[in-house]
Amino acid sequence: MTRRAVFFDKDGVINIDKGISGNFEPLDFIVGACDLIALFKKIGFMIFVVTNQPVVARGLMNEDELKSYFEKFSECILKNNSEAIIDKIYYCPHHPDANVEEYRIACECRKPKSGMIMRAVEEFKLDIKSSFMIGDRMSDVIAGCIAGCKTVHLLSGRHLEKAIVTDLKLDAEIAPDYIINELSELRSIIV
Ligand SMILES: [Mg+2]
Ligand SMILES: [Zn+2]
Repeated sequence: MTRRAVFFDKDGVINIDKGISGNFEPLDFIVGACDLIALFKKIGFMIFVVTNQPVVARGLMNEDELKSYFEKFSECILKNNSEAIIDKIYYCPHHPDANVEEYRIACECRKPKSGMIMRAVEEFKLDIKSSFMIGDRMSDVIAGCIAGCKTVHLLSGRHLEKAIVTDLKLDAEIAPDYIINELSELRSIIV
C-alpha cells in the first residue's frame, strides 16, 4: 500500500502569520485548519508540516526553544480537534545571511528548495505523486512542484510576496495545480 501525505506550510496556512518573532503568542489558527488535518488523517493521509524558521538563524530563538514551541503548537491543535495528529514537523533553521554562524548556509531544506519534503518521502516511503503541498507563498508551491507533488496555493497571508530568492534554477512556468481563496476549499480538492 502506498502512503500519501498532505504537506502543510505552517504560517499563513495553519496559523495566522504574524511575522517572525522570537516571542510566540498563544496560537491563532486559521479557521478550519485543525478540522481539515483531522479529516485528511482520517481518510488515510499522513500529515506533515514543512516550515522555514529563520528565527533560529537570526538568533531570536535556539533550536530547543523552537522544538518546545512546536510541541505547544501540536498540543494546541489537538485541543482544537483531538484527531488532528501531525506526523512530523520539518523545519529549516538556516538562512544564507544568518547572524548565527552555524546556521549561515545555503542549505537544501529552506523552501523553495524541496529538501524537507524529500526527507519525509525518504523517511516514510511516501508516494509523492499522490501527495499534496499547500502553502500561501510561491516558495511553498515551488518546493512542492520540485518534489513532484500536487500543489495548492492559498491566496491569503503572504501570497503576494515574491518567492524566496534562491540559487535554484527555476522553470519560469512553475504554477500551482490549484489556487484557493479559503483554506476550507482544500477539502474538496483532497477528499
Ligand atoms: Mg506561509
Ligand atoms: Zn535549511
